[in-house]
Amino acid sequence: MQIPSLNKTSSPKRTTKAAKDTSNNSSSSRSDATACAACKYQRRRCRPDCPLARHFPADAKKPFSNVHRFFGLKKVLKVVKNNTKTNRERENTIKCMIIEANIRANDPVGGCHRIIVGLEKQIQLCKMELDHVNQLLHFSQVHNYMKNVVDVSSTLEENVVANMVG
Ligand SMILES: [Zn+2]
Repeated sequence: MQIPSLNKTSSPKRTTKAAKDTSNNSSSSRSDATACAACKYQRRRCRPDCPLARHFPADAKKPFSNVHRFFGLKKVLKVVKNNTKTNRERENTIKCMIIEANIRANDPVGGCHRIIVGLEKQIQLCKMELDHVNQLLHFSQVHNYMKNVVDVSSTLEENVVANMVG
């Protein structure tokens, strides 16, 4: 059972230098194809321990360029290499940076502030509508109560009159 595995491990050592060169070329072209967006953007070779590869996969070129333009590479690396934070915290921070940079790219003047102001206005409108509905509910309850009181008193009056007549 061990003989085939020994043959397998020994076979790469027997390869010629030319064969090694072609394998290196193919691996480098493969690494270029799978390089993270950050390394592609900077035209650098993406190493297996690249700290940005996890947050910016190969198809995230636009988000990285937005983050790079808005925050700068130094800040991104500072967040990624911050050892005082947990992996989850670092991931959330990078996600927030990507969201903020994308929004800023779409709206360079307003950015996140315009969205927050819009949401605050919506909350304000919803609160006003809720107050109005609560007021209507209160009036309707009072109206129903008064109607019941009037009904009861009128039936009492009718009974009293009926007793007096009878
Ligand atoms: Zn990389």
